[in-house]
Amino acid sequence: MNPLLSLKDVTAFYGVSQALFGVNITLNQGEVVALMGRNGMGKTTTIHTICRLLPHSDGIITFKGTDISTLPSYKIAQMGVGLVPEGRRCFPNLTVKENLIATARKGEWELMSVIDLFPRLGEREGQFANTLSGGEQQMLAIGRALMTNPTLLILDEATEGLAPVVRQEIWAAVSTLKHAGLSILIVDKSLKELLRIADKCVLLEKGESVWAGVAKELTPALCDRYLGV
Ligand code: ATP
Repeated sequence: MNPLLSLKDVTAFYGVSQALFGVNITLNQGEVVALMGRNGMGKTTTIHTICRLLPHSDGIITFKGTDISTLPSYKIAQMGVGLVPEGRRCFPNLTVKENLIATARKGEWELMSVIDLFPRLGEREGQFANTLSGGEQQMLAIGRALMTNPTLLILDEATEGLAPVVRQEIWAAVSTLKHAGLSILIVDKSLKELLRIADKCVLLEKGESVWAGVAKELTPALCDRYLGV
C-alpha cells in the first residue's frame, strides 16, 4: 500500500539560507505521526514545505501517490491537505460562521459536525474571530481545516499558549479525530500528550530527520538527545 504522505530527502531554503537538509517522513492512511525536535529544528518549515507555502525546496513529496512538490498551495489543499497553522490565523473580520463556511467543501464535516466537536463555536457563531479567546480561535482554526474535509490534517502547535483546561479540550478533539480514522501530522510541545496520541514519531535535528519509529520505541535516551527532555 502506498503511503498517504511521503517525503524523501526533502530540502528547503529561505532565500539562500538552507533550513531543511534531508527530511524523510512516511505517513500511512489513518496514522497519527508526530514531527518532533527542539526549537528551530525545522518542524514548521517542513509543514510549510509540504503545503508549498515555502516553494524553494527539493526532494520528493507525494500525497495520495501524486508528486505534489511543484503544485501551488491551493491545489494541495484541494487534494485534501488541511492545515491548522501555527498562530491560528483565523480571518479576524469574519464571524465564526463565516470563517467556517469560507473554506467549506462537501463531505462529512459541515457546520453542525464542527459545532458538535466544539460546542463553543456554536455559542459564538455570530461573533467576529478577533473577539474570541485564544482557545476559541484555536478551535475555529481546527474547525476551518475540517470544513475542507481533508484526508490529512496537519496541526502545527495547536495547543501553544493555551490554558491547561483548554489544551485538554483540544487534545480531546484531536483524539476524537484520530479515532474517527483521520490521518494526522502533528507538531506540539507537549511530549506526554503527543506520545499518547501518536502512532509514529519523526525526530528532526538541524533540518534533518534523524530517527523515525513507533512512539513506544522513543526511548528516554532519544528524548534526551534530540528533544532535550
Ligand atoms: P519552533 O519549535 O521554534 O517553531 P521549528 O522546529 O518549527 O521551531 P522552524 O521554524 O521550521 O523550526 O525553523 C527552522 C530553521 O529555519 C531555523 O534555523 C529558523 O531560524 C529558520 N527560519 C525559519 N523561518 C525563517 C524565515 N522566515 N527566514 C529565514 N530563516 C527562517
